[in-house]
Amino acid sequence: MEIDFNVPAHIVGIDLGTTNSLVAFMDLTGPRIVPGADGDKLVPSVVSVQPDGEIVVGNPARELLLTQPERTVYSVKRLMGRGLQDVQDELKLYPFHIAPGSESVIHLQLGDRTYTPPEISACVLRQLKQNAEKYFGAEVPKAVITVPAYFNDAQRQATKDAGRIAGLEVLRLVNEPTAASLAYGLDKRKNGIVAVYDLGGGTFDISILKLQDGIFEVLATNGDTHLGGDDIDNLLLRIALEDVAGEWGQDLSTDNEGVQRLRRAVIHAKERLSFVPATNIELEYRGKKYQREIRRELFDKLITPIVDRTLGPCRRCIQDAGVSVDQIDEVVMVGGSTRIPLVLSAVENLFRVKPHTELNPDEVVALGAAVQAAILSGAVQDKLLLDVTPLSLGIETMGGVVSKLIHRNSTIPASATENFTTGVDGQRNVLIHVVQGERELVKDCRSLARFDLKDIDPMPAGMARIEVRFLIDANGILNVTARDQRTGKEHSVDVKPSYGLTDEQVEKMIQESVEKAEQDFAERQVREARVEADTILTAVEKARRHDAYFELTDDERAAIDKAVNELLLVYHADNLDLILQKIEQLNQATQKLAETMMNTAVRGALKGTKI
Ligand code: ADP
Ligand code: MG
Repeated sequence: MEIDFNVPAHIVGIDLGTTNSLVAFMDLTGPRIVPGADGDKLVPSVVSVQPDGEIVVGNPARELLLTQPERTVYSVKRLMGRGLQDVQDELKLYPFHIAPGSESVIHLQLGDRTYTPPEISACVLRQLKQNAEKYFGAEVPKAVITVPAYFNDAQRQATKDAGRIAGLEVLRLVNEPTAASLAYGLDKRKNGIVAVYDLGGGTFDISILKLQDGIFEVLATNGDTHLGGDDIDNLLLRIALEDVAGEWGQDLSTDNEGVQRLRRAVIHAKERLSFVPATNIELEYRGKKYQREIRRELFDKLITPIVDRTLGPCRRCIQDAGVSVDQIDEVVMVGGSTRIPLVLSAVENLFRVKPHTELNPDEVVALGAAVQAAILSGAVQDKLLLDVTPLSLGIETMGGVVSKLIHRNSTIPASATENFTTGVDGQRNVLIHVVQGERELVKDCRSLARFDLKDIDPMPAGMARIEVRFLIDANGILNVTARDQRTGKEHSVDVKPSYGLTDEQVEKMIQESVEKAEQDFAERQVREARVEADTILTAVEKARRHDAYFELTDDERAAIDKAVNELLLVYHADNLDLILQKIEQLNQATQKLAETMMNTAVRGALKGTKI
């Protein structure tokens, strides 16, 4: 790795976490975390909107969770780029309200104003930007931000939006596991398989990356969106509440402040217990005292079911990645909860490799983002990061069939161009329907966007040339452009799906496509045959008004009528061979007619895939 610090670069790396966020930068000694005003490196991802409109972020906002829960937002990352339907269960856990009209974009009602999830995330980003600016004494206009590897288009776009709202140019979104691997300099080993185990506050992610010639590729991801340190806290809290009820004869669970204070106490005990074999849970509250010793052995016994819940996703991830356990060369530990010794030993047992724990697990993603920022600034050379698209992308063609332009698992950035044509004579507008998924038919895929390419030159069906171009940038965001080759008219959209997919849904879509591949293919062929039949039937209908038609003998015309009728009879049957046979029969019956016609419209109409 060449480092050239003459390149002026205040490009920072940001880990925008569910629980905590951090900002880091690269100096001569390597990547480093920027401390906040209070000296804390971690900024809790909590935002509170005060009655006067003032925005409070981080540790002070976390304090307000207690007194102003309905105007204080935490874990907003769970809502980024998601639709209302996606997060129904999620929303039940939140104390704040959702504003009416949130069907397409969620709006949180906080006091008099509403905020979208990217706006809330932007508050956290703005705080991190300010911390960095204070530290450098200079402006920080650009950043690299990390996202979970399973984030889809919409979630990535929402993260980019958050950056823009915060006044940051987001140079790149980097996958969290890739960033963690970079922080450990694993790219230097050039080739290998890396597993990244990330157990944070509320989420668990496992990713398997392939490193080839210094380039990372995500082979598979898995995890649990509701598993992490919070579960351990809740477990200890329940026990402590029972103790208190017994000792004080008082049910503290209905006392908000009391519960919050006790929660703080169990979290402290939990975190200490990662370093010492025994510690105390201590609470002094309203003149009363509670103290209980907790030893590592008991703690380990209590949390074993939680730790075990991470192992299933790990095994599935290994399987999905198509590797065996002994092919995994390196394991990287990420997330504050991986400091727990039991977690470390469980991971070591499963992967049979000594995991990397040299860096702070809650800092490692931000550190890697800073390495990536330095690469982009030109300070560090010879590295390239690549990711892959989780699902195929394509457009709808006639008959409700999908034409895939970019296939699943293509490395990004990626682009593809294909030519299409019109299906109807004199067609002025073409609907471009962008879909995502592995299935052959549009009805089984997910609709991402629709737009019209308007005012194309009216021409016979099949004559127009419409070029459709898909471009996925390095952040995984899709841009679709359709262009009428004759007039040069074009229309383009950045695809922002109205709501996102969970990784389970992605997996399910892939699974289904494998199971239904044969059936889909057959159905697709039938539909395509029907489109072909439509084309030739329309052309014949038109030819009946042509002079050439009247030059045919009576027998020749009768043969055409017969072939048309027979084709119409089998048109709706799900019998591909029969449809094709009748199309061929009609083709033969009209051969002389077609040849006689100077106008090539009949034959010309048969060319090209129609949109
Ligand atoms: P996220 O990626 O979800 O934003 P972090 O990686 O910052 O979260 O992890 C936060 C979680 O790590 C919290 O549940 C916190 O209590 C836990 N944690 C931090 N330090 C320790 C420790 N020493 N021992 C056990 N858990 C810890
Ligand atoms: Mg994290």
